[in-house]
Amino acid sequence: MTPVGGHGGRSGRGAILGAAGALLVLDLSQLALLNPRTLSVGALLALVGLYVATTILGLVALAPIERWPRAFQMARAGVLLAATFFVAQQLALLSFPLWTHWRWLVPPFWLLVAGVGMAGARLAVSPTRWGALVAGVLVAVLASVGAVRGFSWGTARPALARAGAAHPEGEPIRPNIVLVTIDTLRADHLSAYGYARRTSPALDALAREGVLFERAFAQSSWTKPSTASLLTGRYPSMHRLYLEKASLAEREVLLPEILREHGYTTAALSGNPWIRPEFGFDQGVEHFYSVRAEGLAHGTLFMNALKSANKLVDVGAMLYNRVKRLVVGHLAPTERDRRLNAEAGRWLARQGAKPFFLYLHYMSPHQPYTAPPPFDHAFVPDPRATPVTVYPRKTYLFFETGDPLPEPKRQDLIGRYDGAILFADSILGELVETLRHLELLDDTLVIVTSDHGEEFYEHRNWGHGQSLYNELIHVPLVMHWPARLPRERRVARVVRSVDVMPTILDLLDIPPSAPLAGRSLLDVIGDESAPGWDEAYAELLFREASVRALIRGDEKVLETVRGGRLRRELYDLAGDFDEQRDLSPQTASAEVEERLTTVRTWAESAAHGAPLHTGTN
Ligand SMILES: [Zn+2]
Repeated sequence: MTPVGGHGGRSGRGAILGAAGALLVLDLSQLALLNPRTLSVGALLALVGLYVATTILGLVALAPIERWPRAFQMARAGVLLAATFFVAQQLALLSFPLWTHWRWLVPPFWLLVAGVGMAGARLAVSPTRWGALVAGVLVAVLASVGAVRGFSWGTARPALARAGAAHPEGEPIRPNIVLVTIDTLRADHLSAYGYARRTSPALDALAREGVLFERAFAQSSWTKPSTASLLTGRYPSMHRLYLEKASLAEREVLLPEILREHGYTTAALSGNPWIRPEFGFDQGVEHFYSVRAEGLAHGTLFMNALKSANKLVDVGAMLYNRVKRLVVGHLAPTERDRRLNAEAGRWLARQGAKPFFLYLHYMSPHQPYTAPPPFDHAFVPDPRATPVTVYPRKTYLFFETGDPLPEPKRQDLIGRYDGAILFADSILGELVETLRHLELLDDTLVIVTSDHGEEFYEHRNWGHGQSLYNELIHVPLVMHWPARLPRERRVARVVRSVDVMPTILDLLDIPPSAPLAGRSLLDVIGDESAPGWDEAYAELLFREASVRALIRGDEKVLETVRGGRLRRELYDLAGDFDEQRDLSPQTASAEVEERLTTVRTWAESAAHGAPLHTGTN
């Protein structure tokens, strides 16, 4: 082995210092240009500190090693090999999302990575001026690709082919559409739905001038599948967005895609990390704003590289999460909603004659229920009591239960949740005021709903995503457009999230371009006795387990499967909307079996993309 050091060592040091300096400048300028609101002294110091620490490690790895034993040299080669691998992997990650039709290049790319890695190892053992040159070129390419990717981050994504221009002469004027999801919002905690606490003055006001659906059910109990059902009009087993890593297939047609084809300007502003372009929620969206992507953590090459590295060694992204917390801290759900409203205000003010579709996904009622004063103490039974800060353990495994909490603490938690709802409602009120101020409200259909509710141990668990009881799937649904929809209408029939998209399309007289599970609500808004509005179906699907729920009139059937275990439940919602008395033990088994057969028929038809339609159509 050739001893190294001297000239080669100096070139290596120069390359490392130059690269670190260039990347730091690039990261800082990206932040200054793109994410100025994330710039804080602490965050900047943390970022500079991370760069300095990494540079020192790099310099140590490149120190002269004549007198080092062979084993150390090999170890150092290994470290440099890994570093080169990460750099190349970063290049891949940064480049491929830009040119997705080049994805087929990925396998050859990994061969290239292996080759570059081996060359890196060779250079580690005997660095030369060539080594410095190769490192310099790699860094330059990384920096320029990063610049392209980075500078498009958080701004409008590249425009797709523009769909047919605005409506031709003679066609009726189309309303703007603002579709609002307030995450984790159970209907029975809203004053509009009869809750004793006055948690929703703004929504109450909207409902007074519009239509409120008393029995609206979400199609799943966590964000990804449920929101996908809202935006595609299809059940989870149809759109298949129910696993954590899944993305919406391109063939799925999202509401903004259709609207855009019909001349709408489209935007989606999201405070929920599940609702991001990475999962396919940007289909048809011209302007996608994700609070998460706004964060320093997602705006810098450094944090992206760290995340990829962490993923590669798969230690639960612990290192990445710790550094992220150090750099950005935690952006509370309520703070995210403030940012969403600021962005919504900017975007709405830019709109001209073209009708627009705006999707807003607010987060305030989501854990950890930390609304700012005075909302934090608005409903807690005892404001002097120490708030619950460590949440009781919950479980996502069916047939298992979470840990209980003493009743006063449980009530404290519920009080804080209600305070967060009141905050979310103030955010909604602010949005409505913005629309009014911009003189857009009269021409805008505003729809407010939620993706799921929240459990406070009603069924021996916490949070959401663990069952399909009503505290998790009974969601608010309010539609406001006095120019066309009735005022003060309360609809008591059973409706679903999947009905929202068909309703919007029906109002605009646009035929759906894919088989939808839902159907237009105009039918039941116009006539409460319209046939067929009695059924709702929901699914919670995991790899090895599932819950399926079918509501038919006042009857609700649940089938829970995990491994070899099966549980059937039957509830009478007329006297037991909270599902506390399972009627299946005292019901004849043939009758229970008959109900379950119906659930399975629904499941199968949904899985085959041919949903059962309620009623006559
Ligand atoms: Zn959610």
